[in-house]
Amino acid sequence: MSPNWSDGARPVRAPRGTTLRCQGWPQEAALRMLMNNLDPEVAERPDDLVVYGGTGRAARSWAAFDAIVATLQQLAADETLLVQSGKPVGVFRTHEWAPRVLIANSNLVPDWADWDEFRRLEDLGLTMYGQMTAGSWIYIGTQGILQGTYECFATIASRRFGGSLRGTLTLTAGLGGMGGAQPLAVTMNDGVALCVEVDPRRIERRLHDEYLDEATDDVDDALARLAAAQAEGRPLSVGLLGNAADVVPRLAASDVAVDIVTDQTSAHDPLSYVPTGLAVEEADELRRRDPESYAKRSRQSMAEHCAGMVAFLDKGAEVFDYGNSLRAEARHAGFHRAFDYPGFIPAYIRPLFCEGKGPFRWVALSGDPADIAATDAAVLAEFPDNEPLVRWVRMAGERVRFQGLPARICWLGYGERDRMGLRFNELVASGRVSAPIVIGRDHLDAGSVASPYRETEAMADGSDAIADWPLLNALLNTASGASWVSIHHGGGVGIGRSIHAGVVAVADGSDLAAEKLARVLSNDPGTGVMRHLDAGYDDARRVARERGVQIPMP
Ligand code: NAD
Repeated sequence: MSPNWSDGARPVRAPRGTTLRCQGWPQEAALRMLMNNLDPEVAERPDDLVVYGGTGRAARSWAAFDAIVATLQQLAADETLLVQSGKPVGVFRTHEWAPRVLIANSNLVPDWADWDEFRRLEDLGLTMYGQMTAGSWIYIGTQGILQGTYECFATIASRRFGGSLRGTLTLTAGLGGMGGAQPLAVTMNDGVALCVEVDPRRIERRLHDEYLDEATDDVDDALARLAAAQAEGRPLSVGLLGNAADVVPRLAASDVAVDIVTDQTSAHDPLSYVPTGLAVEEADELRRRDPESYAKRSRQSMAEHCAGMVAFLDKGAEVFDYGNSLRAEARHAGFHRAFDYPGFIPAYIRPLFCEGKGPFRWVALSGDPADIAATDAAVLAEFPDNEPLVRWVRMAGERVRFQGLPARICWLGYGERDRMGLRFNELVASGRVSAPIVIGRDHLDAGSVASPYRETEAMADGSDAIADWPLLNALLNTASGASWVSIHHGGGVGIGRSIHAGVVAVADGSDLAAEKLARVLSNDPGTGVMRHLDAGYDDARRVARERGVQIPMP
């Protein structure tokens, strides 16, 4: 019997402005970001405390949420709150350089780390699924993945299509919290996208948030609209109500010419993916009544979905996994060619990780969009010669609709993040932004993850499964002055498949914040350079040498 997640549910929205409810800005920032994660504009299923990514939650229960809020309001500047899988479990005296919150989510001892054991413990109310930024309180809505998705498509455009996706067709699935970024990322690259989604509410939401242009439940209608746009070189995204495990193999067997194929359904979790032949409500009912046969049907459908993608690969399309374990689940169901196509990290992202480059993000605690405009201007002033970055920040300013507190993301590397963090701290100190800025990142980053199906797939030295690295990353961030630090298991690829760490630092304009930001925002990406150098990547060795990352055995 699952816990009643919605017991005590109510709409939550982060406070705005400069009035403190807590004893300091770091505590206030944690409180506002927890609440922001559950804002109905931000979270996918806020009543159930689900932020994104299948069942990625911000707190174990509504009672635990209330207790975290009450504790943060009392927490002194030399105390640290410990949160165990969404439940506040202790407050200890530390010191002002220590994090105000330390979080551990979904961790299990390796021999016990499978979905069955996780569900047993979750049903007993002893754990929760933290995903990545859900349980570590630094989710910023669909924008959080938008630039990464945009850059992947831009890389494909420059490698295969002469620098632009104009006139090309991308086929993908899943329009959830993260997957919803795909249509906008394709149209930002001037392409057209067909996005298959089984839940009509998710399609509505992406239309409302202006990530998706149009919708239909008729595949021929969708293809006709997309073909017209392709012929005119006009960007267009169409959401198609349907099941990817039906649509993808059917299109692969047809003569429709598709250029790029990927997927971002919730395939990390067989109880979140929707099997063929079931409407969303029927799937909910079967999941409750008979989770075992649900998981079996779900894996079978994933095998069919994945086989459709491999059929597109055979026809010459650019096919890649977008970090959700579809391949692993399909192989589990007996499809042996599941890993014929690569994951997006080895295919497009690893050279960035070698430079410590990853998804740096920040949030204006004031709630005022003008503060993000001021930070955007600061980024443009700081890095005027970084052409892709300038293009991204300008485009994001024009096209990204904020969800919850105004926020921005841009990928920065070693030596760049600390510069930007210090600039933001100066903006706060000088009053050019009206309240402190929270700075964090996804756990999907250069030095913070061990995930053999994603971030550490196909490492040069075969060290894919070594999980010491994210643990060292979390320990170092704790020692460097972060405001909150987290260690998670599971995340984007599911239980048993990854260990990763999160970090957040608050720019409140003080001298102490500047000292902390300088350390955290260089040490954190520094672990990415270190990890890739250790694995034998020459790019990382060069970056360490040029930018002064100290490595005892280079
Ligand atoms: P989500 O739970 O918010 O959305 C998943 C969507 O997939 C839902 O809208 C659901 O209705 C849809 N779906 C499920 N089965 C389907 C099917 N058979 N056909 C069509 N649609 C189906 O999840 P999310 O936050 O969007 O994340 C998507 C996946 O990506 C998850 O597995 C997540 O763990 C992973 N993820 C990847 C990255 C990355 O960087 N690549 C980052 C975060 C999460």
